[in-house]
Amino acid sequence: MLESTISIQYVNHYFGKGSLRKQALFDINLSIHSGEIVILTGPSGSGKTTLLSLIAGLRTVQEGSIKVLDREVYRASNQKLLKLRRQIGYVFQKHNLVPFLTASQNVQMTLELGGNLSRKEMCHRAEAMLEVVGLKHRINYFPDQLSEGQKQRVAFARALVTQPQLILADEPTASLDKNSTNTVVETLKDLAKNQGRSILLITHDNRILDMADRIVHMEDGHLINETKRYI
Ligand code: ADP
Ligand code: MG
Repeated sequence: MLESTISIQYVNHYFGKGSLRKQALFDINLSIHSGEIVILTGPSGSGKTTLLSLIAGLRTVQEGSIKVLDREVYRASNQKLLKLRRQIGYVFQKHNLVPFLTASQNVQMTLELGGNLSRKEMCHRAEAMLEVVGLKHRINYFPDQLSEGQKQRVAFARALVTQPQLILADEPTASLDKNSTNTVVETLKDLAKNQGRSILLITHDNRILDMADRIVHMEDGHLINETKRYI
């Protein structure tokens, strides 16, 4: 039996109160195993980001069960959610880099949360990760000195530098050129296939659908089909 990194059962989610209450997710069931790359597609407004943020513990689970790395997220304490978030690499739709920190310092930020590395070691790891995403020559640049694609790659490096077991990414390749996309895809594939990490990626990008073991589709808050492929 494969180990599940994510196990979602009967999740519903609502926004707003009273007569404005609107259901955004309906009866979501989904499991993702270790080493698996799953791509989540679907039109804008269908609920993809909502689902991803629930899995990451960034939003409160209202109904149903979400188990991530063997921990239940539903009704988990803030302390537990904080701990869980440190084990997840999350790449936001907008890169969210800190403008007054260099690329290297932005990447080091996630290592600081872990708290037990020397500055020198953090620096070394951040720069090695930036090199993997092809930004060795940009480590001391500030975000506004970088192109959109380069900023997005820094965001990737920041999410991956802690070597998380689970990587969640929200439309991460939208602003990447072909070379950057290939670099990111190869890095993610290596993490999944050689290191057993699980990856859930939201994308509309036809260029990267091929990397998926499985593609799941969301429409109006429902997961409507699963295209299973075996490689
Ligand atoms: P997607 O990522 O697929 O574009 P979202 O998960 O962002 O979709 O949104 C799903 C639905 O939930 C949309 O109808 C959106 O308007 C609504 N929604 C998302 N976030 C909020 C929020 N913070 N408050 C109210 N409604 C929201
Ligand atoms: Mg979205």
